Amino acid sequence: MNRLCVHTITTKPLSVEECFRQYPPRGVAGITIWRQALEGRDLPSVKRQAADAGLDIVSLCRGGFFPATTDAARQSAIDDNLRAIEQAHAIGAPLIVLVCGAVPGQSLVESRKQITDGIGSVLAAAEHAGVKLAIEPLHPLYADNRSAVNTMRQAHEICDALGSPKQLGIAVDVYHVWWDPELEEQIKHAGRTGRLDAFHICDWKTPTVDLLNDRGLMGEGCINIREISEWADEAGFKGYREVEIFSDKWWGEDQAFFLDQIASRYSQTYS
Ligand code: ZN
Repeated sequence: MNRLCVHTITTKPLSVEECFRQYPPRGVAGITIWRQALEGRDLPSVKRQAADAGLDIVSLCRGGFFPATTDAARQSAIDDNLRAIEQAHAIGAPLIVLVCGAVPGQSLVESRKQITDGIGSVLAAAEHAGVKLAIEPLHPLYADNRSAVNTMRQAHEICDALGSPKQLGIAVDVYHVWWDPELEEQIKHAGRTGRLDAFHICDWKTPTVDLLNDRGLMGEGCINIREISEWADEAGFKGYREVEIFSDKWWGEDQAFFLDQIASRYSQTYS
């Protein structure tokens, strides 16, 4: 099976309709749709257009951001996640990726507790909609305001704390976890527990000039992407390899050229 998927954020200058046109000719078989790409769209129509283009909708990005300093703000995050579940259901996305959130100045332990509670309060809705949720651990450099979940181990701990619901799993993004000395073991554990639900790829550039928007194409950096992919596959992962690149540099290029580069780097990585 062709396992190449691209996130709409990777080609941020393109509308979702342009993604539907430009991905398939490059051999892209899956698409992960970011919620901002859906703004103003009729969701059933988006679902039809993806099917007409021959693209599998792999995930909706993103839910999460549960921690906050007030009850009202935490409730509003839960409401937003419930909306994301409805959107995922409407476009036929089987999975929502959770960037779990963090609050500068609030302890990471407290934030993880709020994340656990937040996920717990939307699980029933996810199950009802037939949508899975996947916790994406983020690199510790984002522990201030994006995610208090920074390792696969912590993601597993949240799944355990909630009683290992079948609706909850983990999204492995090589950019965030490649450095973790426990990575291979934790990926295998995710396979054994049925939690290995998504696999995101890009590369870590040296130097990285912007902490958020300077990710590299596969092969532009130092991540052992092929090896980590093999760990996932050995753990039973059969899903898409999702190219997720935030890059001011690449967003400034012609996106057709960028997509050609993605396709060729992908082939080189997995040849
Ligand atoms: Zn990711």
